[in-house]
Amino acid sequence: MSIISYIDKVSVEEWVSEYNIIEFLQESIRCNTINPPGNEILLAEQIHKKFKTYGIDSKIYLQDKNRANIVATIKGKNPGKRLVFSAHLDTVDVGEVNWNFDPLSGDIKNGRIYGRGSTDMKSGLVGLMYAMILCKLNESIQYGEITFIATFGEETGSLGAKYLLENGHIESFDAMIVGEPTSNKLIIAHKGVLWLGIESTGKTGHSSMPSEGINAIEGLIYFLNQIKESNITKATDDLLTDATMVLTNIEGGKSINVIPDYCSATLDLRTLSSQDNQVLIDKIKSLALEISYKYKNFPELKIKSINNMSSVKTSPNSEIVQITKQILEKEFKDGTPQGINYFTDGSIFSQADDGDIIILGPGIPEMAHQPNEYVEIDMFIESIYLYMQIASKYLKQSI
Ligand SMILES: [Zn+2]
Repeated sequence: MSIISYIDKVSVEEWVSEYNIIEFLQESIRCNTINPPGNEILLAEQIHKKFKTYGIDSKIYLQDKNRANIVATIKGKNPGKRLVFSAHLDTVDVGEVNWNFDPLSGDIKNGRIYGRGSTDMKSGLVGLMYAMILCKLNESIQYGEITFIATFGEETGSLGAKYLLENGHIESFDAMIVGEPTSNKLIIAHKGVLWLGIESTGKTGHSSMPSEGINAIEGLIYFLNQIKESNITKATDDLLTDATMVLTNIEGGKSINVIPDYCSATLDLRTLSSQDNQVLIDKIKSLALEISYKYKNFPELKIKSINNMSSVKTSPNSEIVQITKQILEKEFKDGTPQGINYFTDGSIFSQADDGDIIILGPGIPEMAHQPNEYVEIDMFIESIYLYMQIASKYLKQSI
């Protein structure tokens, strides 16, 4: 590779072919990391080998022999800021619907690469990985460093990111690019998630004598309606619209003539940056207490958090956002910072540091988790070009 002073699209296209980057994306799709069970170690090892070819040391963090995160860093000529490239190794299942092709084929047709994970998010993963390799080979980084982090178990609640955080493997960072599918648009905000499990325990009895029992189902329904009517979960945001709460499961009752003594439910709340998930949990718990004080013979309510990930919102004025916006607009693309509905590992990493997080990656967001998933090759190549440009600009100055 010849070292050039700036990164242009034609050079990136040449490198994609010179370094067999599309072939590596195909290989990564063929690598079965459907979660569950995940088996992300398979792909982590391939990435480890590839990095080694280019003189980049990477470290695999194993939770057990099959679940792996991989982390690698390249340093610029001088010390400076740290930019993190974030991706996940796992994919969702292929689903019940029949596909028109083998979901693990990685085949190319009509300028698209097909397969589970092509959009979410092996194209983003491989794009970030090669952007880092090319930045090293091209000596594009003046100051600071790029750290690449690929995680396991993102699709089932960012398990790998949580593992890294809990074990102190996340170093502070100034900015982060999460390569989830955004059609290469600039995303600066996504909702948080709060999954709650609620259990209601009453007292059984014959349904001909309701006063003798405590009805667990009726109590739970009353409580859920009280949450809805209160202002506890309500909030709105210019980029993300409204916070939402959906009752996703309810189970209880044994027989038509028996007062049910047990009922359970799950709630899926999608939260905004103006909401603190822990405060929400506390408020919902105190509402339960309030109700049980108010009514005697009310079932006992237990609330537990099943998944708790905060929202992400980065200032539109932050350096990484401004740089990305400029780069996109120079390419005659929409550089307007936007919000997105799904959550990312960024939620977890934002607990380690308050660095600025953006989400930008190849693939149409609506294609994620769908049958017959594919990614446009042009969009994939464009992402490498964008990542390299953002990194070299962001790491051009000392601080
Ligand atoms: Zn994803």
